Amino acid sequence: DHGLSEADPHVRTIIDKEKQRQFRSLELIASENFTSRAVMEAVGSCLTNKYSEGLPGKRYYGGNEFIDELETLCQERALAAFRLDGKKWGVNVQPLSGSPANFEVYTALLNPHDRIMGLDLPHGGHLSHGFMTPRRRVSGTSIYFESMPYRLDESTGIVDYDMLEKSANLFRPKLIIAGASAYPRDFDYPRMRKIADAVGAFLMMDMAHISGLVAASVVADPFEYCDVVTTTTHKSLRGPRGGMIFFRREPVLGVDLESAVNNAVFPGLQGGPHNHTIGGLAVCLNYAQSPEFRAYQNKVVSNCRALANRLIELGYKLVSGGTDNHLVLVDLRPLGIDGARVEKILDMASITLNKNSVPGDKSAQVPGGIRIGSPAMTTRGFTEKEFIATADFIHEGVKIALEAKRSVSGSKLQDFMKFIGSPDFTLM
Ligand code: PLP
Repeated sequence: DHGLSEADPHVRTIIDKEKQRQFRSLELIASENFTSRAVMEAVGSCLTNKYSEGLPGKRYYGGNEFIDELETLCQERALAAFRLDGKKWGVNVQPLSGSPANFEVYTALLNPHDRIMGLDLPHGGHLSHGFMTPRRRVSGTSIYFESMPYRLDESTGIVDYDMLEKSANLFRPKLIIAGASAYPRDFDYPRMRKIADAVGAFLMMDMAHISGLVAASVVADPFEYCDVVTTTTHKSLRGPRGGMIFFRREPVLGVDLESAVNNAVFPGLQGGPHNHTIGGLAVCLNYAQSPEFRAYQNKVVSNCRALANRLIELGYKLVSGGTDNHLVLVDLRPLGIDGARVEKILDMASITLNKNSVPGDKSAQVPGGIRIGSPAMTTRGFTEKEFIATADFIHEGVKIALEAKRSVSGSKLQDFMKFIGSPDFTLM
């Protein structure tokens, strides 16, 4: 049996190039991070060979004594990392990623075509919370369920809870979803709980982006108010690529969440769990209980604030005026430039971030903002000083993007992309 270099030099070379790219660039994508060597070792282990459909002690295959031990350990660590009492909360650590975890919750709690309300995608929500356009039901969630998004108050950049309340009273959803992919503030869980209770809806939090911050108690705790909490494991939490679903053990609205969620994961939507991922997740969740992890998450937030303050000093408009978490959303429209052009220019300078729609945007393809996150570079050892310098680099990139845009005839994005030497760039 050969190692990768001998067995498949082509794939080895591609991995090496990607590794170089990761180490060369300033990684500012808010949903990404660098996991630890210990997690990578578990993920690259023999655990990937084993089939273990079912749950610990109740498997459909033999030979699972060590897998049972591992999954039970992972569950215990998941509850401990979020300070949850195992009598009140349970967890399923098998979801393959964040989107499947969310769909598993919908499958557990809803009937086809039941109504849900999540934050609108152009206002910072996630596709899996039910995005649709007037012409098309884009996400599977909106194909199988009836979705009415709630939105931000465009003047403040904060969730419009009054409007959510009014819409919920009319729409009568069975599920309200908190959580976002591009929202720099905490959710008001007590308010959302009240709204959900008034209409008899379940309340779920998708804490994918902020689960590391929740584990370290540097943002509000959703567990106190929600019935179900989902998360990815590879963002601020710094684990392997995967997902988890936490559920209350007490029945809610007459539903036994534990069996509903577990059955939705398997046999509902998944087959064999990815045991190598569960191994890596167990390692991550042990680390998530350490003082070093808490210190890291505090730095994620203080670094992000330093970045935000510097951008404000440089004259940028931030959605909601700042940040309480690991990301900032910059509204570039007052400058007359869009997020796609700025993303492209910064990419050429190995500064990796993403274009993002901002409230009030007309086009999702050429959105008016960029999203910048602090978790990955904080892992790489950046302090506030380096994040301030990063804001200055971004500012230089924006100036170059503005200059380049002025030099091209017209302002079409395709012309601009050709001008800066990327003729093969296609929009979405
Ligand atoms: N939920 C939120 C809030 C997210 O931001 C994301 C991904 O960015 C997901 C779910 C989906 O996770 P995955 O890409 O692992 O399916």
